[in-house]
Amino acid sequence: MAASARKTNRGPQEKAKLGQNFLVDPSAAQRIVDALGDISKSIVLEIGPGRGAITQILSKSAGRLIAIEYDRKLAAQLRMAYSRVPNVEIIEADVLSVDFDTIIQGDLGGISDRQNTPPTKARIVGNLPYYITSDILLKLFEFHRNFDSIVIMVQREVADRISATPGKSEYGLLSATAQLYTDVEKLFTLPPEAFSPPPKVHSSVLRLRVNPKAESLGVGAGEFIDFLKLGFAQKRKTLVNNLKPHFEEERLKNGLKELRLRADVRAEAVSLEKMAGLFKSIRS
Ligand code: SAM
Repeated sequence: MAASARKTNRGPQEKAKLGQNFLVDPSAAQRIVDALGDISKSIVLEIGPGRGAITQILSKSAGRLIAIEYDRKLAAQLRMAYSRVPNVEIIEADVLSVDFDTIIQGDLGGISDRQNTPPTKARIVGNLPYYITSDILLKLFEFHRNFDSIVIMVQREVADRISATPGKSEYGLLSATAQLYTDVEKLFTLPPEAFSPPPKVHSSVLRLRVNPKAESLGVGAGEFIDFLKLGFAQKRKTLVNNLKPHFEEERLKNGLKELRLRADVRAEAVSLEKMAGLFKSIRS
């Protein structure tokens, strides 16, 4: 398939650092695929198939598999291996440059031509290259209407941040953004030895069920995320101190009072609902 992939100018040195820690524990690969549920009729999009540890299992169980690999050599090897497998497509591209609307909806003419039919929903899976985990997640959230669930392996500390609830020290902008778009479950953790070469860190598998909440919170997703960025700007500061360069201090304090929040509360202790309440009260 022709993906609208923009080629980036990464040099050889950067290519050497593509986060290539390959999964060598077959039972873990099977658990990752199992976490996707019944995929026999689904489009599954794999990010970074690498040497194919997960791809191999997916190719047997997915209705259709699209795998996006940036490393030219690995992509060529995968294309050779799956050239006669009709449900598998290998795309050589930087996942940060692909247009998911085109890839998922493309065959049917693109989202804009399909306003009366619901978009096809794909499932995302990937043992993500850790150097761009946040960028990949932000991109998946931006294109969320193409997906119904996302099963990803990330560094354990990042998984803890994504799944943290308000009040926990790991709760921050990444948690709030992920939870604005999805319901997050932490599934299991693997030691470094499950990979070759072993990374320095443990890795955890998360399942994110797409469930966008901006509309029910009464906010626009884009403007609310910009507000969250301001609120979480400096972890040590209170919410008011982070926000007062941008909003009237009096209104902020009144807004917090109405929500029964302390004037010195930090963003990490505030639920998405209350954050949206504050945003609406100071914006109106
Ligand atoms: N899925 C394989 C496994 O579990 O063994 C490989 C996982 S490895 C952690 C990450 C993979 O992502 C590598 O194959 C790497 O080449 C690929 N990758 C790195 N950056 C990428 C990018 N920007 N777009 C697509 N794939 C990328």
